[in-house]
Amino acid sequence: MTALLPRPSILSIEPYVGGESKLPGVNRIIKLSSNEGAFGPPPMAVEAITAMAREAHRYPDGGATRLREAIGARFGLDPARIVCGNGSDELIAYLILAYGGEGTELIMPAHGFVMYDLTGRYAGCRVIKVPERNLVADVDAMLAAVGPRTKLVCLVNPNNPTGALLPRNEVERLRAGLRDDILLILDAAYAEYVTDPDYDPGQALVDASGNTVMTRTFSKIFGLGGMRLGWAYMPPNVADVLARIRGPFNVNAAAIQAGIAALAEPGWIERSVAHNEEWRAKLSAGLEAAGIKAWPSACNFVLADFGTAEGAVAADAALRARGVIARMVGGYALPSCLRITVGTAEECQMVIDALTEFMRTKSS
Ligand SMILES: *Cc1c(COP(=O)(O)O)cnc(C)c1O
Repeated sequence: MTALLPRPSILSIEPYVGGESKLPGVNRIIKLSSNEGAFGPPPMAVEAITAMAREAHRYPDGGATRLREAIGARFGLDPARIVCGNGSDELIAYLILAYGGEGTELIMPAHGFVMYDLTGRYAGCRVIKVPERNLVADVDAMLAAVGPRTKLVCLVNPNNPTGALLPRNEVERLRAGLRDDILLILDAAYAEYVTDPDYDPGQALVDASGNTVMTRTFSKIFGLGGMRLGWAYMPPNVADVLARIRGPFNVNAAAIQAGIAALAEPGWIERSVAHNEEWRAKLSAGLEAAGIKAWPSACNFVLADFGTAEGAVAADAALRARGVIARMVGGYALPSCLRITVGTAEECQMVIDALTEFMRTKSS
């Protein structure tokens, strides 16, 4: 008998473990492990999802036309060059499967988003993780890692789980140093949170080159992670490739309506950004005051560094004892750190209080 086996590279993949959402014996859980936005879903999106239930027998618009038009209007982009996906994860997977594959290489920073590693292996690529400098992607080292088989370079900016923002000229230098037959994926899942006026989530680079794609999501600032909705902006030749390979109804009807409604919710981004600026600063300052290093973040989370893996595990246990779930990031080669989402004011204050007490009892 010959055993049934998948392609060998598949078995090198460790299954993705998401942010946890349950704690045994704790009633009120404060989930700060998946960067889901502090305010929940926009009220108009909730209404749109509810209304869609009565139309559940209808197939969705396979082209998500009205949603792409709404995205285009909001962000000043040509809808013909926007493709929507069942989460941006799906679009990332399509791109890696279409342009990577056996015998090719995918380059990413050492502490970049884990989905690139998982999907790269799924596609059969050799995944090269390039060391960073002080937890920021190192453009020179990434360019030096490029070889004749390199087909994909993946950069999350600002990055999850570090929060680091790579300056615009550095991203441009990366693209300029890559061959034209290499696809650069710029993942801007946290773009809406960035307040640096010089920041380009990727739109300018996509327009200026024929080989760059920007991915975005409704899962973070728009609070629609459960709907699974993402989108990407790309050159026409890449849009043509995705039109050939994506599932014809890859975005469901409720997600389409929720996305349109979320974009129309008055002041949603502005309120979310203002809250995030205020409480990310307070959370970081509270951690630093307690003696914990908080890495600079342009996102809706803070990377708290406890110096040792034991310190991070103990801090995680102290938070859990109070019902707070943060994210261990050992899988990102950051075992001494916890990634903590900026939640509501009350939630942030609970984290500050819990970790202040943790550090006090630890040192006494
Ligand atoms: C959350 C996240 C995503 C996933 O987004 P979905 O649209 O929910 O699939 C993609 N990239 C990064 C860096 C993220 O943090």
